[in-house]
Amino acid sequence: MGWLAKIRTSKPVLVTGGTGFVASHVILALLKEGYRVRTTVRSKKDEKKYSHLFLLTHNAKELVEIVEADLHKKESWLAATEGCDFVIHTASPFPPALPKNEDEVIKPAVEGTLNVLNACLANNVKKVVLTSSIAAVIIGNERSCCTEDNWSVAKLCAPYEKSKLLAEKAAWEFYKNNKGKLELTVICPGLLWGPILHKNSFTSGDIVQLIMRGELPAIPNMSFPIADVRDAALAHVRAIQREETNGKRYIIVAESFSAQSTVGALKKEFGQYGYRFPFLKVGKCLAYLASFYNPMFKLFLASIGLSYEISNRKSQEELGIDYIAPEKSVVEMVYSMLEFKLLPAKGKISPKL
Ligand code: NDP
Repeated sequence: MGWLAKIRTSKPVLVTGGTGFVASHVILALLKEGYRVRTTVRSKKDEKKYSHLFLLTHNAKELVEIVEADLHKKESWLAATEGCDFVIHTASPFPPALPKNEDEVIKPAVEGTLNVLNACLANNVKKVVLTSSIAAVIIGNERSCCTEDNWSVAKLCAPYEKSKLLAEKAAWEFYKNNKGKLELTVICPGLLWGPILHKNSFTSGDIVQLIMRGELPAIPNMSFPIADVRDAALAHVRAIQREETNGKRYIIVAESFSAQSTVGALKKEFGQYGYRFPFLKVGKCLAYLASFYNPMFKLFLASIGLSYEISNRKSQEELGIDYIAPEKSVVEMVYSMLEFKLLPAKGKISPKL
């Protein structure tokens, strides 16, 4: 082990939400760079949700520490952040359907972020990297080419989008009020695909499973800003390593990718094994009807017919992200789901990761 790696392993980097899709990849990227990691889960008893972290690398068992913390419990973050210079805050609810009450997602996102930031301040943490979302950037801005200067319009946001917007705004307000005491970088990823590292369900994976299970009756006329979870994870790690990212937000989006291109990429790879894909394209009215059949459609109704132009220049130039193409991300995600037996294997398909 080189001297740099030794230094990196002396203090753990805290990653919040260790059971998550994004956090698992962030932890893997940190381990690969020689960092020690502490990560939070809501309950240590639920070992099935985090045991995969100990298998991420040959030495993960020694380098990954699990602690309990809940976004609703302010006091839990003091112990979690103690002794850390860097905190990567990914934990936040990302539900697969619209919540009954928007506070179910907004409260843990906003108050949870402030609880984490306050604990970081109390423990002299040097820097926080916050996982926000492209949902905090683009909503209501479809007429311009979106950059990091754009902010979503709260009154046009669905509850999850609003939770990300308000949590990020609260973090920047906190940063402004505590200038010089704590650094902050914000990562705003698009919808994330790429290989899964665990069997826990999560919303961006549920969407791909829906398509692969033949439960998408038709293709909505819409595009998603997509990125690969490995690029998003790398962005978080580069943000803790590069001081020049302090006080900045970064869009992480490979490209705006249509639902039709997504189905096309999956059909090209998996159609030969007997998986069935929709071919009819639908607009808002039919998608509205489909939302009674599957409530996940409700998440996307507002985006049907819209397309966004999004610049990823800043992340390429300042974080050095060389984007993985969405076709590759979605196909590799499906192969990993087959490997974890989350999708039924058909024909002579063999997972190839
Ligand atoms: P997951 O659902 O896989 O992970 C969410 C994590 O947040 C889980 O670890 C979950 O814990 C934790 N969490 C939720 N509520 C609480 C709470 N009250 N207290 C403590 N922990 C909590 O989602 P992703 O990994 O996909 O998302 C992670 C982050 O990335 C989120 O901030 C999300 O908004 C953001 N993001 C994700 C994108 C994507 O496409 N996946 C795109 C853009 C941003 P538990 O397992 O106990 O529920």
